[in-house]
Amino acid sequence: MDEKLEPIFDDIVRRNPGEQEFHQAVREVLESLGPVIAKHPEYAERKIIQRISEPERQIIFRVPWQDDSGEVHINRGMRVGFNSALGPYKGGLRFHPSVNLGIVKFLGFEQIFKNALTGMPIGGGKGGANFDPKGRSDDEIMRFCQSFMLELYRHIGEYTDIPAGDIGVGSRELGWLFGQYKRITNRYESATLTGKGLEWGGALVRREATGYGTVFFVEEMLAARGTSLDGRTVVVSGSGNVAIYAIQKAVARGAKVVACSDSSGFVHDPDGIEFELLTQVKEVERARISAYAERRPSARFVPQGVVWDIPCHVALPCATQNELTRRDAITLVENGCIAVAEGANMPTTPDAVRVFEEAGVAFGPGKAANAGGVATSALEMQQNASRDSWSFEFTEGRLAEIMKSIHDVCHETADKYGAPGNLVRGANIAGFERVARAMVAFGLV
Ligand code: NDP
Repeated sequence: MDEKLEPIFDDIVRRNPGEQEFHQAVREVLESLGPVIAKHPEYAERKIIQRISEPERQIIFRVPWQDDSGEVHINRGMRVGFNSALGPYKGGLRFHPSVNLGIVKFLGFEQIFKNALTGMPIGGGKGGANFDPKGRSDDEIMRFCQSFMLELYRHIGEYTDIPAGDIGVGSRELGWLFGQYKRITNRYESATLTGKGLEWGGALVRREATGYGTVFFVEEMLAARGTSLDGRTVVVSGSGNVAIYAIQKAVARGAKVVACSDSSGFVHDPDGIEFELLTQVKEVERARISAYAERRPSARFVPQGVVWDIPCHVALPCATQNELTRRDAITLVENGCIAVAEGANMPTTPDAVRVFEEAGVAFGPGKAANAGGVATSALEMQQNASRDSWSFEFTEGRLAEIMKSIHDVCHETADKYGAPGNLVRGANIAGFERVARAMVAFGLV
């Protein structure tokens, strides 16, 4: 890290004790910004880095709810509005027992730069709760969503903050959240949430967008190296929203996806993961990934196994933060992996990223590679604003163009700042510069 930025980083760590994931996300961005500060002393004078690392607002609230037996439970809800220089806060809601303020802040911080890279008018935010939906009935999850919205509604809105889904929050939960929002506010404001169902203001391709976008990004990375996905073996972690549609698109582009996972282990299917069966198991039945192997003779389930042990050309981590370690990176490189793109947010540990960089593996950081989800959310907002709905083909075409433009801006920025091919640096610098220019324009706010 540049010596001018080190004391700033130390101060951020001091002011946000115990928030390891947040420190990790900030460090990774600051490590890229030395040459930017050297070129633009006004950013240092105006303390843009200190300001961008401090959320504009953080809301923490109690979420009481009753389970089916009548027992009362208390969870903690939160929403962090990190930066609104480019537009209203935009970012998902995560329901997972691991959620805490440090995780929400890391996700919100990443979201600032990701949203900037899309070129859309959206700021960065994130939220969620330490609620575990696993094993809960539909009614219990609905009651939780309603209680959560009973506080959240005051803080969100089309021009303020527009939540979407993330881990544990899909279109079912968004339905319960939006139903409650509409009831409390007495307004049908579709553009307050994105990722909605198609019947009530949602957009075609939003469900598929993050996974598809990640695959489009991989194709751009491979094309820049004179090759393609066709005929490649792919391994994906997770089997949620992002993973499922990354698998579908990778197969459509000629790749064979041979493994995917959930938190209980992974399935290896050398014949190629069958999309219909996977969606039946994970989306319809909401079952564990082992159920896939039980019904597919060519597949085996490896409980608690590491999916990265399966050899592949392309690895797509699509589950959660810090799931791909240095040990996994070494295994992937030894097995001939040539490209990694982060469908999840910060799934690759910093020392694993270094292994890929040193081995010359093409690496697409999450804030660029998984930006297709939020970009398509912005397209959903456009359609809500114009009371219009676009076809699947048209929207997918827009998504593909956006992913190409994100790849190109990262690539060009990396070149411009003397780090050719380093898309981590390119993404951090290009995202930062867009936000910093707007913050300078607004003065000290
Ligand atoms: P889902 O809840 O649909 O799926 C999450 C998947 O990851 C599940 O297979 C889950 O397994 C697995 N997983 C979650 N936490 C862990 C854990 N601690 N250890 C092992 N496996 C885990 O979430 P999404 O697919 O929406 O999100 C996945 C990632 O993509 C997240 O990092 C999210 O922030 C990121 N992302 C999502 C976007 C979106 O549009 N949805 C947009 C951009 C990024 P299990 O069911 O067993 O918990």
